[in-house]
Amino acid sequence: MLNIILMGPPGAGKGTQATSIVDSFHLPHISTGDMFREAIAQGTPVGLKAKEIIARGDLVPDEVTCALVKERLAKEDCANGYLLDGFPRTIPQAEALDKLGPEIGREVSLVIDLSVPEEELVARISGRRVCPKCGASYHIKNMKPQVEGICDRCGAELIQRKDDNAESFQVRLQNYYSSTQPLVDYYKKQGKYHCFDGMVGRANLEKQINALLEENK
Ligand code: ADP
Ligand code: ZN
Repeated sequence: MLNIILMGPPGAGKGTQATSIVDSFHLPHISTGDMFREAIAQGTPVGLKAKEIIARGDLVPDEVTCALVKERLAKEDCANGYLLDGFPRTIPQAEALDKLGPEIGREVSLVIDLSVPEEELVARISGRRVCPKCGASYHIKNMKPQVEGICDRCGAELIQRKDDNAESFQVRLQNYYSSTQPLVDYYKKQGKYHCFDGMVGRANLEKQINALLEENK
């Protein structure tokens, strides 16, 4: 079963690869970032808590994030696999997931990590535009939509994320190194870890990830 975690620093291309994986393998795309942004847009209690934290690039507290994911993974559409994008992002989150997975019959089967050097991340984030409706990502130079400012997948108007500024990006990157990078060893020890070079180009990367998933589905 494909119970997948997609990880990598901000700007590594998680969202782009996630979109292609869920389209090819018919999995629900569970992006905690998208869930938080939706909660913020709707003004829910979680959204109110997360708004300022996310804008400055910090991590939402583990309890809040874990509760959200727990509820989402229990839904029927995750019964035949799922793609987690942006979760877990800390060791306590990974531990919570390891506890939850077997309880609900949805244990993580493999972890895909995208590796991209820091200079490239900065360039990608500064030109990024996203679809607030379906979560697809574009870049003003390197990955333009067919019609400027409009999402190819769903037709919604593209926006620039509030946390895609230089200052918040630095905070996100530092949080990634200190809190998320330790998950590499955590999942290596479990034999679930697969690292991909995020610089080989979008289509090549898609092919390589597809090959791994075909072998494991
Ligand atoms: P990116 O990978 O580009 O930084 P995401 O869309 O995955 O962006 O996440 C955006 C923000 O949402 C994060 O910077 C963080 O504030 C919050 N967030 C998302 N997932 C988590 C998580 N698992 N734990 C804590 N905070 C999270
Ligand atoms: Zn869209």
